[in-house]
Amino acid sequence: MSDLENKLKEVEQELALSKEHLEKMMIEQQDAARLLIRRDLALSRANEKLQALDVAKSEFISIAAHQLRTPLSAIKWILHMISNNEFRDDAEKVQFVEKAVQSTDRMIALVNDLLEVDHIQSGKDQFVFTTVDVVAVVNSVVSEIQSLVEKRGVKLNLNLSPEIHISGDVNKLRAVFQNLIENAIKYTQPGGTVTVSSLLEKETAKFVVTDSGIGIPDNQKPHIFTKFFRAANALRVDTVGSGLGLFIAREIVLRHGGKIWFESEVGKGTSFFVELPIAPVQK
Ligand code: ADP
Repeated sequence: MSDLENKLKEVEQELALSKEHLEKMMIEQQDAARLLIRRDLALSRANEKLQALDVAKSEFISIAAHQLRTPLSAIKWILHMISNNEFRDDAEKVQFVEKAVQSTDRMIALVNDLLEVDHIQSGKDQFVFTTVDVVAVVNSVVSEIQSLVEKRGVKLNLNLSPEIHISGDVNKLRAVFQNLIENAIKYTQPGGTVTVSSLLEKETAKFVVTDSGIGIPDNQKPHIFTKFFRAANALRVDTVGSGLGLFIAREIVLRHGGKIWFESEVGKGTSFFVELPIAPVQK
């Protein structure tokens, strides 16, 4: 082979190597471009999520502020009356001061619910799991709300097992049953009945709170566990609820590995069911 031919061969080999190198670089660049597009998509999605969260947070604050404004205004108005001594007599004064106390209680309950929702949503809420007799929890809730039962003129029937021990957080479980039983009483007309029953099934403790009350309209059923949601017929019966109780109750039941659902018919009544595993997985 002549020198020239050798040189040409060398150049050819170098060119082949460069081509291979270039092809490799192109593939690498295409991979990098694909990765960038994927990252860009992921960032856009995260951004959309953050924007949605921001909107949800603003809505939460706005509804909470509106709900706090009503009792606060009532208190301000009553304080104003006291300072101007605008009452007919002492009896009327006492009546209005009691109203101010009720408004304060309402605000405290609302603030507690708001804090609970915030804790649940931010994952700050610490659950303390111990062995709990859930029937005893229900019984203690029932004895604490006797005055509400009497005030509403509702008949409360209990059909509870002697005891059912599960692994759970006693205070959180108390909040669940307090909400369900108080709702049943609140949304039942005087003379109606509320029945609380329990049943020990194979691996679960099942509780049913049944009332003969106003019921839940079919078109509002999908929203019942949504934060701040209150059905129109409930608003007419009870003007002071926050619409946070069932949201909180559901979160608590889920954290116990349980289930919560309801059946309801307008004008006939509602049953709320809670199923709790005897030994739930701790989350
Ligand atoms: P609140 O009772 O403060 O409004 P909840 O979150 O406890 O809030 O309940 C949300 C809504 O679910 C109520 O406003 C009402 O419309 C409906 N609800 C709950 N329990 C009952 C019940 N036992 N009977 C009829 N409606 C109910």
